[in-house]
Amino acid sequence: MNSRRYTVDLIAGDGIGQEVVPAATRVVDALARRHGFDMTWRDRNWGSAYFFEHGRMMPVDGIEQLSDGDAILLGAVGHPDLPDHETLWGLLIPIRREFLQYVNLRPVRVLPGVVSPLRDVEALDIVVVRENVEGEYSAVGGRAYRGTTDEFAIQEAVFTRTGITRVARYAAQLAATRRGSLTSATKSNGIIHSMPFWDEVVASVVSEVEGVRLRSTLIDALAAALVLRPGDFDVIVASNLFGDILSDLIAALAGSIGIAPSANINPPRHHPSMFEPIHGSAPDIAGKGIANPVGQLWSASLMLDHLGEAEAATALMTAIETAMSDGVLTADLGGTAGTQEFTSAVLRALSSGN
Ligand code: ATP
Ligand code: MG
Repeated sequence: MNSRRYTVDLIAGDGIGQEVVPAATRVVDALARRHGFDMTWRDRNWGSAYFFEHGRMMPVDGIEQLSDGDAILLGAVGHPDLPDHETLWGLLIPIRREFLQYVNLRPVRVLPGVVSPLRDVEALDIVVVRENVEGEYSAVGGRAYRGTTDEFAIQEAVFTRTGITRVARYAAQLAATRRGSLTSATKSNGIIHSMPFWDEVVASVVSEVEGVRLRSTLIDALAAALVLRPGDFDVIVASNLFGDILSDLIAALAGSIGIAPSANINPPRHHPSMFEPIHGSAPDIAGKGIANPVGQLWSASLMLDHLGEAEAATALMTAIETAMSDGVLTADLGGTAGTQEFTSAVLRALSSGN
């Protein structure tokens, strides 16, 4: 078995997903030739167009169709005429849950040519590890006495030792390969059952990983510190809700929503992991050829790294940074380059041998 052959499912999806996913496959194909691995793409025409024809976002056996692949590269799903819960619960959430992608990884750096709201942009180099399948996003709870003055709602958060342990272990091991600093987002002063439990389990897991310093920081203080002193942070581990908020905060510091990547990872590799930009289908600019492909390309770099092609993953990031330092920028970053032109600049940077 040649372990350097990869089968990747492509869900380009809607809007600019149809423009940025082809940019990513062009670049990954070029990397495959240079670095000597083999890519097989399986095109999936799922998403809103599929919904309008079939009444669902993906086929009934969609999960099964993806299950023997090595990874999933997703563009965006969303349509102005479809409610968000349809696209979320019809495609994204089933994939994350069925494939137990319990780590949501969002790295952030300020790439060349980007104007960040921060002054000290060199210092920003952070990875947020968000718990992706349990915690505050639970179905436990309910509402009563609807419409009366006695009406109330109860929303339970569900944290399990298994769930906290596995995400904390992933984050600690990641920190060990970086600058050795792990910050855990907590709120144990106000949330007195689940958060002390989170703190205890995280501390015990991290104590088993050599060379990692752990700080537990209250989520409110952490949000402020990220804006004031982003250079103090390396890897941050957070529950589902806290991680969601922190990763958007940090992505905003990095300059444009068109840049930010993400990975939904199943660390034991029993199932495929999924890689997607943070941005959505952007119907306002779809079809114009001006979308920034960096979020998708960076997500493809995370995918290559996950597949074990670390050299190609790094080469891709270097090529993106070269193109951007040379002043090739899309409109969201104040430039004039279109999606194709930017992608060609990345391909040129790759072939001029970095
Ligand atoms: P969806 O419903 O699919 O989430 P949306 O329009 O709500 O789509 P985004 O797609 O994230 O949300 O877009 C938010 C804004 O950012 C839009 O104005 C969009 O044009 C812009 N934007 C998003 N992605 C990019 C990109 N890759 N390049 C340039 N601009 C982008
Ligand atoms: Mg949206």
